[in-house]
Amino acid sequence: MSRGQLDTEVQFIKGVGPKNAMLLKRLGIETAGDVLWHLPRRYEDRRDIPQIMFLRPGHSSTVKGRLVDVRSKTLGRGRVVVQGVVEDKTGVVNMTFFNQGYAAKHLQKAIGQDIVAYGQVREGYRSQLELHNCEWEAIEGGETDDFARIVPVYPLTEGLTQRVVRRAAKAVVLACAQDVIDPLPNDLRRVEGLPSLEWSLRQMHLPDTMDDQTKARGRLAFEEFLYLQIGLQLRRNEVKQEPGIAFSTTNWRKSDVAAESLSNLFTSSPSSDIWTDVRTMLPFVLTNAQKRVVAEIWTDMETPIPMNRLVQGDVGSGKTAVAACAILAAVRSQHQAAMMAPTEILAEQHYINLHRMFEPLGVNVTLLIGKLNSTQRKKAYAKAANGEAHIVVGTHALIQEGVEFLRLGLAVIDEQHRFGVRQRLALRTKGKVMPDVLVMTATPIPRTLTMAVYGDLDVSVIDELPPGRRPIKTHVKRTSDRKQVYETVRTLLEEGRQAYFVCPLIFDNEKMQAQAAEDLYYRLSNEEFKDQSVGLLHGQMKPQEKEDVMQAFLNNTVSVLVATTVIEVGVDVPNATIMVIEDADRFGLAQLHQLRGRVGRGQAQSYCVLIADPKSSEAQQRLQILAQSHDGFVIAEEDLKLRGPGDLIGTQQHGLPDLRVADLVRDLTLAEQARKSAQTLLEKDPGLSLPDHALIKKAVLAQRKEEALVSVS
Ligand code: ADP
Ligand code: MG
Repeated sequence: MSRGQLDTEVQFIKGVGPKNAMLLKRLGIETAGDVLWHLPRRYEDRRDIPQIMFLRPGHSSTVKGRLVDVRSKTLGRGRVVVQGVVEDKTGVVNMTFFNQGYAAKHLQKAIGQDIVAYGQVREGYRSQLELHNCEWEAIEGGETDDFARIVPVYPLTEGLTQRVVRRAAKAVVLACAQDVIDPLPNDLRRVEGLPSLEWSLRQMHLPDTMDDQTKARGRLAFEEFLYLQIGLQLRRNEVKQEPGIAFSTTNWRKSDVAAESLSNLFTSSPSSDIWTDVRTMLPFVLTNAQKRVVAEIWTDMETPIPMNRLVQGDVGSGKTAVAACAILAAVRSQHQAAMMAPTEILAEQHYINLHRMFEPLGVNVTLLIGKLNSTQRKKAYAKAANGEAHIVVGTHALIQEGVEFLRLGLAVIDEQHRFGVRQRLALRTKGKVMPDVLVMTATPIPRTLTMAVYGDLDVSVIDELPPGRRPIKTHVKRTSDRKQVYETVRTLLEEGRQAYFVCPLIFDNEKMQAQAAEDLYYRLSNEEFKDQSVGLLHGQMKPQEKEDVMQAFLNNTVSVLVATTVIEVGVDVPNATIMVIEDADRFGLAQLHQLRGRVGRGQAQSYCVLIADPKSSEAQQRLQILAQSHDGFVIAEEDLKLRGPGDLIGTQQHGLPDLRVADLVRDLTLAEQARKSAQTLLEKDPGLSLPDHALIKKAVLAQRKEEALVSVS
């Protein structure tokens, strides 16, 4: 490979060849440049090479010595063990391989040579030290890439070896790292104290020290955050520059609110119509937190700058009522409102609720979801277009082509984490003038993260639950207690209650998740609860089937519902008072909390049982947090403390572009630094039109394209 050729096809890189090139292609690696960006997953410090007598069982070590013998043994049931005996001046250790027939052949060839190996040291038969399933190689000419240094460990695919990727990465770094053009201008790097891209990529693949690697990683993470923040801030600015609608809430609000303290906003007896409306509409008094958030929303709505506000509120904090108040302000100012929810079940629930609230006010609410037949759909379309529908509630059906509004003034998006950024924007485009946008989410993100994730939105938090809620009693149980748990469920069923069973979440694999739910469904409906009506709900079912079983659960014709995490969002069946979560340790705490929010919706005491056999005391402790706390934010923060990054923030859940290096949880300081840096940069160059910023602009635009592809999970 000659210098300067980032476009060189991988098969021409030293030690790769056509066969490995095929494998690399599976990882999306086609060129030398791709190799450079295929970053290690982790590192093994193999610099320290202890003499054999100092090896300690339980630790991973590098071993150097002479391979003096190779032995094979057949154990019971055709299992084969191959051992290579390695010696140095101080002792003997056996490299042990199970069921790897080819290992023997490979080892035979190296007998008598010096080798290096890296693996876990264990104590074998008769206290003989062993290296289990280690990596090893014969030392030729005293040089080795895979040992005696900090060795990168790369993501692989079947058939591909670490050694091939390491060689390729080293070759590419040495030949082309210098050809990489740094998108970050020198000035910016100096101000932020960041190393160059070339140096950073070099240190990622061939770290001199772990400190250097950390610094390199930090630089790459910063760059990702910078693009993300620039994207968010640009969007924020774009929206705010458009002329929006100033809703005519000013008059009544000025006269009433100024005169009264916020806390009795809704309890006093104001003269204005809207106050009467609010009291007619809601069967309860808003909590203080709800009042504060409604006031923030109304203040936004009064100004002609388009609102772009996020309402964060824990499960059950009453976001729907807050949305209803915003909608009220819009319809009272002769504008239409649209409310979009991620599932048909949820959209229908909102429709029922809003219809109940607004009917007495003479406000029309129309439902628009995928399952409407063509006559119904045409009718809904017509009502939205001619203004007969004041409020349209629906799923993504709302953002389809052909849906038009006469005067859309407010777009509400519920459970925003289920939508991509693009879908949020798509609803906005349905207005002739830029409508106000209110997005609502229950995903408990530690407050400190909000800015990094939702940089383009203003944020309101509902940090209080309506009064009189009975906290859900949460218990952590072992699988051996299952029988007892089922007895408890049975007791509640006999009292006429309903129950949820939730199956483990297996990331990225909806099929396996469905399988787990089907298995549990089969067992419960044929054994433990065969006298009950058991239903099944998972993501692989047809929409109609899902609807049917949900409807049956709502009517209480199904009393036990076995489900995957599809029920995580919004489902409201107050008669369901117990949830049993299987393999609970496989879920993130935040998600468990979200799931648990499906019970405890009525007056009766509700229960959540987490079944798991956690292997570590840390995992046990994690689950205990749920038993002790009901505050989504506290739970998210605790999860963060205990687990670090992990699955708290799945980026795809937020419709954010994938972050290759950066971690929204671990790299919070960097994210904050990047946010400020983005701000400074945009103040200087709002359109990113300076030549120095050309590559940054390109990256930000590419990121936008990627976002467009993010779809509903
Ligand atoms: P979420 O924030 O999870 O979307 P909802 O809007 O579905 O919560 O509200 C949960 C339940 O609490 C609903 O049954 C709703 O009627 C009730 N609720 C909301 N606000 C209040 C309040 N201020 N007082 C009493 N009940 C309330
Ligand atoms: Mg809700």
